[in-house]
Amino acid sequence: MKKIIIAIDGHSSCGKSTMAKQLAKEIGYVYVDTGAMYRAVTLFALRNGLFPDDGIKEEELKAAIEAGKIEISFRFNSETGRPDTYLNGEKVEDEIRQMEVSNRVSPIAALPFVRTLLTEQQQAMGREKGIVMDGRDIGTAVFPQAEMKVFVTATARVRAQRRYDELMKKAKTQAERNALNFEEILKNVKERDYIDSHREVAPLRQAEDALVLDNSNMTREEQSAWLLKRYKEIVG
Ligand code: C5P
Repeated sequence: MKKIIIAIDGHSSCGKSTMAKQLAKEIGYVYVDTGAMYRAVTLFALRNGLFPDDGIKEEELKAAIEAGKIEISFRFNSETGRPDTYLNGEKVEDEIRQMEVSNRVSPIAALPFVRTLLTEQQQAMGREKGIVMDGRDIGTAVFPQAEMKVFVTATARVRAQRRYDELMKKAKTQAERNALNFEEILKNVKERDYIDSHREVAPLRQAEDALVLDNSNMTREEQSAWLLKRYKEIVG
């Protein structure tokens, strides 16, 4: 069967990664979470004092990128059945999902030099096709020629609730659970929507030829079935 590129874009926390991962598994494709790559750059900036409260130290971040100091990779984890994200050889899968990174990632992702670097890496990953990639600009900027494009969305409240539930499940201690605040998460979801859709380079928008999936009232199983059906229609 011919191999294609599947681009899954959409708003924050609408379950793109889960459905993209599931689809990739079902059809034997490679899955790439591009949000994890922007998150890894953000983690690097935070750890190296390049994103203090008064703003990003753009020149220094740019210099670090140009000097090849940020190397991002994925390695398959057979325990979870999912790829883990590595930053300069260190597994950072948990760190990049923390609120601190979520709160700072969109301004980092708006920087043109960050987008150039990551877009090139993503295009290289899709050279052989047979890939499911999720993000914000996959169908519009990374692979405008993708054979299958899906734009996923749901209401901000539904997305914040899902994020809250996910973080709650991941929290290891009562203190971590107590620190979770629904309103803060909702604010973060809305802020990221705004920054992602209004940035100058590769803003989040629906590609004209994208299939739209509003999953506010859908179960995971319904989404998976929907995606698989579309994929089969496309590959014939
Ligand atoms: O998908 P996830 O929520 O993990 O993405 C984190 C952030 O990375 C997004 O809010 C967005 O700012 C940025 N991003 C992006 N382009 C992508 C993927 C993610 O700008 N292709």
